[in-house]
Amino acid sequence: MDARAGTTPPSQRAIRCGGERSRGNRFATLCRLNGWSLLPLEGESAIAPPPHPNADLGRSPLVIGKVEIPPGKRVKVEIPVTRLPTGTTLSLPVAVVRGRYPGPCLWLSAAIHGDELNGVEIIRRVVRSLKSSYLHGTVLAVPVVNIFGLIEQSRYLPDRRDLNRSFPGSARGSLAARLAAIFMQEVVSHCTHGIDLHTAAIHRNNFPQIRANLQDPTTYAFAKAFGAPIIIHAGTRDGSLREAAAKRHIPTLLFEGGEALRFGEDAIQVGVDGVRRVLAYLDMYTLDAPTQVPLAIESYETKWIRASRGGFWHRKVELGQRVSAKETLGFVSDAFGDKPTPARSPLNGYVIGYSQNPLIHQGDALVHIAKVTPS
Ligand SMILES: [Zn+2]
Repeated sequence: MDARAGTTPPSQRAIRCGGERSRGNRFATLCRLNGWSLLPLEGESAIAPPPHPNADLGRSPLVIGKVEIPPGKRVKVEIPVTRLPTGTTLSLPVAVVRGRYPGPCLWLSAAIHGDELNGVEIIRRVVRSLKSSYLHGTVLAVPVVNIFGLIEQSRYLPDRRDLNRSFPGSARGSLAARLAAIFMQEVVSHCTHGIDLHTAAIHRNNFPQIRANLQDPTTYAFAKAFGAPIIIHAGTRDGSLREAAAKRHIPTLLFEGGEALRFGEDAIQVGVDGVRRVLAYLDMYTLDAPTQVPLAIESYETKWIRASRGGFWHRKVELGQRVSAKETLGFVSDAFGDKPTPARSPLNGYVIGYSQNPLIHQGDALVHIAKVTPS
């Protein structure tokens, strides 16, 4: 990423405080903290919102894994998690990029499902491109949350628990619950915003998409700023990181794109561009060459089309393809190709995921469609 020195965020340049023009973030923040009047300048009608309680104001110490990170520093912290049966200590690596200037605190997490690797590469590219001397606020990047699953190339923990059903966790609970509790304490508790990066489950492929609570205006604007090709309203699931963050009033996006155990360049590039746009949207970083925010398709309902019989699945649609109600998505036949049974879309929408395994049983999920109203 090319970047130049961050300047005072546009939303805060036009703040007058007690009759005087603010000179920057710190002064504007002081105004808000002290309850001084914030008056719009001529031609300005909006008053900047108060900072989130967790916003990095550049004054309080930031301590992660017992390591204090001063403003303007980039640090990699290893947070001890457990000791394996072999006696080896296992830790959670966190990259902390604390900007020279105050601002929001954004976490980036990947591989909560240990076999979902695109987010690892998205985080690597974003973090390497950030310069703390230009950054407003802090980025906490955790490229591998499920350290146990990654070693096993598995979605789960060693006891088959799903980490993304174990939040907010507990220091005395299962291994998954303990890891979730550490993540909440050491990462989420510092943050004002979060992005959790995923791919499809094993043997599936997902079109790059953002899933978020689009009924919450703040989260909706956050999702739009990411600029994925499609954004989908999704309620939170019990025990998910997104649900735990929502209970702390932290807007959180879930990015999905590509396959498990692969680096998919298309999905990675959408993810990198999206995180960069979010950093610009939050006034955390100024991009020399900001990427255009594409017009995203919005969907409030998705449906998996399932196999009406077992056999071999012959898919006829691609990711991102628009399909109409009753359109044939592919067919299932026996090994000889006899008696093909078509699978049809019950609604108008876009293909956002599909099964890549041709060998299927009756009831298996074949194609995932995001419903849109026809125009
Ligand atoms: Zn996942």
